[in-house]
Amino acid sequence: MSLPTSAEKTLPRIRPLTSSVSLGLIAAACLMLPAIGSAEPANPQDASTEQPPEHEHHAPHGGTLVVLGEEFAHLELVLDSQAGRLTAYALDGEAEQPIRVAQPTLELIMHAADADSAAPPPATLSLNAVGSVLTGETAGDTSEFSGQSDLLKGTRHFAATLAKIQIKGQDFHDVPFQFPEGNEHEE
Ligand SMILES: [Zn+2]
Repeated sequence: MSLPTSAEKTLPRIRPLTSSVSLGLIAAACLMLPAIGSAEPANPQDASTEQPPEHEHHAPHGGTLVVLGEEFAHLELVLDSQAGRLTAYALDGEAEQPIRVAQPTLELIMHAADADSAAPPPATLSLNAVGSVLTGETAGDTSEFSGQSDLLKGTRHFAATLAKIQIKGQDFHDVPFQFPEGNEHEE
């Protein structure tokens, strides 16, 4: 008689113990979650202070870079929105040194600008070779091109296609890009 009663007493004691242990584990797990969550924001803050080792150029004139080929060369575009003047600088693969181009003009096919502005019809903008007394560059042997269009007046954003450029002995045709985003997507 004593054995069954002791067994009956033992079993009910074990059950509450196990359930209280499992509850304790759940409670401990719940307590840990906020602790982990509060620790995480500290890591991105530390990471953001480090310089990301990504492909990046610094446009010498602070303009928009259009890459030609696989970092073969670049065209840097600087827009004077008030005057409607666009200046292009032909640069090397590092976007550092000017590259002289022989052609007399660069043709840009201008597409519709962003939706919130009055979309101009596609039009050709000719950027003419610009000589420089300082660098000794002359039209037909220069890295600088410039053109003006009333379509560009007051414009901050546009899409265009570079019809053709021959640079460093290679031809590039129909190079699309956005301004001021450029056509390089590593950011
Ligand atoms: Zn580049």
